[in-house]
Amino acid sequence: MKYIDPHINMVSRTTDDYRRMAQAGCVAITEPAFWAGYDRCSVEGFRDYFRQLTVVEPARAANYGIAHHTWLCINPKEAEDVGFAREVLSIIPEFLDAPTVLGIGEIGLNKNSRNELEVLELHLHLAAQRDQMVLVHTPHLEDKHKGTLLIMDAVANAGLTPDRVLIDHVEEHTVGDVLDRGFWAGMTLYPDTKCTPQRAVDILERWGTERIWMNSAGDWGDSDPLAVPKARMEMQRRRHPEAMIEQVTFGNPIEFLSRSKNFRLNG
Ligand SMILES: [Zn+2]
Repeated sequence: MKYIDPHINMVSRTTDDYRRMAQAGCVAITEPAFWAGYDRCSVEGFRDYFRQLTVVEPARAANYGIAHHTWLCINPKEAEDVGFAREVLSIIPEFLDAPTVLGIGEIGLNKNSRNELEVLELHLHLAAQRDQMVLVHTPHLEDKHKGTLLIMDAVANAGLTPDRVLIDHVEEHTVGDVLDRGFWAGMTLYPDTKCTPQRAVDILERWGTERIWMNSAGDWGDSDPLAVPKARMEMQRRRHPEAMIEQVTFGNPIEFLSRSKNFRLNG
């Protein structure tokens, strides 16, 4: 059965991960710009990174029949320096017309600081101006609920419609608000902590399968590029119908991502 991993950071994964994902049925991925594990010290560092996301990774993924797409931004973890963030934002339009770019992301908040909020608003303004879709990161642990509400208000203030915005890293205490306000929701699967495949399936059983997807957010840290197929196995173990499994891991990502003209299935 085919699946899509709509949030995975392949710049920090090996070619062998691409192979294993393809063997497990992955046919498409989307890769948001994220924090490299260190703060980049120049705008040129971001330009190189955006070239890696728009040129290098699509070619690497295509070797395994996986269609690669990307989202561009300066990640909230690097957004404390508003002046620097403005410089990075100024080069993003150079890349927005690349054939695999879906929109702006993953933007959002990390510590819910004023500077982060200002940089979030700058990104949302750019998205509105260029009619881009948006992928949103929400803070972890105790900052998540407050941060999610702040982000949804900022999206509304920017004049973006919620059905073109996906709010990622939802958990039990945020998914209801996100769906109620008309946004799409993403569940990031972690191996042991936060949202495990078991918790994600519990969430689906409680909140349903409309406007929701799951992803691995695999990166350089503790993460699992095969998390989505593992969650599918958990759904099968609980005897959920194949149509439901396919909807959450394949149909829903296609429905949301197809709102960008750049989304396609064949690499
Ligand atoms: Zn994130």
